[in-house]
Amino acid sequence: MTDFPPLREELRGLAPYGAPQLDLPVQLNVNENPYGPSPACVADIATAVAEAAGSLNRYPDREFTELRTALAGYLSRDTPHGIAPEQVWAANGSNEVMLQLLQAFGGPGRTALSFAPTYSMYPEYARDTMTEWVTGHRESDFSLDLDKAHALVEEVRPSVVLLPSPNNPTGTALPPEAVAGLCEAVGDGGVLVVDEAYGEFRRSGTPSALELLPDHRNLVVSRTMSKAFALAGARLGYLAAAPEICDAIRVVRLPYHLSAVTQAVALAALRHAPELLGRVDDLRTERDATVAWLREQGHTVADSDANFALFGTFADRHAVWKGLVDRGVLIREVGPDGWLRVSIGTPAEMTAFKQALTAVTEEGLT
Ligand SMILES: *Cc1c(COP(=O)(O)O)cnc(C)c1O
Repeated sequence: MTDFPPLREELRGLAPYGAPQLDLPVQLNVNENPYGPSPACVADIATAVAEAAGSLNRYPDREFTELRTALAGYLSRDTPHGIAPEQVWAANGSNEVMLQLLQAFGGPGRTALSFAPTYSMYPEYARDTMTEWVTGHRESDFSLDLDKAHALVEEVRPSVVLLPSPNNPTGTALPPEAVAGLCEAVGDGGVLVVDEAYGEFRRSGTPSALELLPDHRNLVVSRTMSKAFALAGARLGYLAAAPEICDAIRVVRLPYHLSAVTQAVALAALRHAPELLGRVDDLRTERDATVAWLREQGHTVADSDANFALFGTFADRHAVWKGLVDRGVLIREVGPDGWLRVSIGTPAEMTAFKQALTAVTEEGLT
């Protein structure tokens, strides 16, 4: 008997990726920005979309030149060397950016490498592009042991290394020496992708890997408008890398992959960058306060440069997660055994989280 539909063997029986979408009053599970855009920004986005609507009979600018220029301008604030438009690439969320990187640089007979705990989508990009997937391991404080990492790179000779920094789900940022050293170890036979989805939330004094671009032509720094820019619904991710890398990705992208509407929305949002990013400082302060509070309660908390905190450890983390759900608070059961991740919300949402966690802890579920 033949199974229907005739799915690839390795995809049979698999469930699509996604956090549980429960309709609870306090949503702290997918690291969204709790603050929506201001009325002025909403109006500007609406005007830009209306303008784009008038020419939707035409295909959009395939090279999204205006958007690349605007993104380059934005990124240039994070590096003294500046970023040129030909160093920028964008797609529908950084998830699509990374899939394209695997399509261009991975594939059969090639290997992608990351260090666990790491972002749970990476193995899916590898699977979907028939790239072999290998994971090394981070230390118990979630840092990277560079000697071990170098040895693994030597052994595996990866075509793509995926390193979230700040890391999801732990919040750990990599020091620039680690990124530079790994770029050297990987060499011209591979690309090293530093996924800075949470880059804007890093603590002061933590530099961006963007500063390293002039010295490492195999370095790719990925960013997204989903988190700091509060634009998860618009689906816009982007990267900065050597122009040769951007050119290579153009070979595998679908024609006109970025719609005229997406381009218009992203450009309008970038014009409001100072306002949209204004809330990032509030979230960083709230993050530090949440980490401190969790530690005062006796929990172990990973140092975080992101808009979430990973805390634990619980003998039965599912019971704690469920206890919070019963109190209207949704967080994420993710990371190594025993740990839970809470996204940073508004002060009112964090108060609700703290009250619910205190109640659950008092029930003795921990
Ligand atoms: C949220 C997140 C992204 C962003 O994905 P988008 O597709 O841009 O919404 C990328 N990488 C990591 C590690 C993330 O946590």
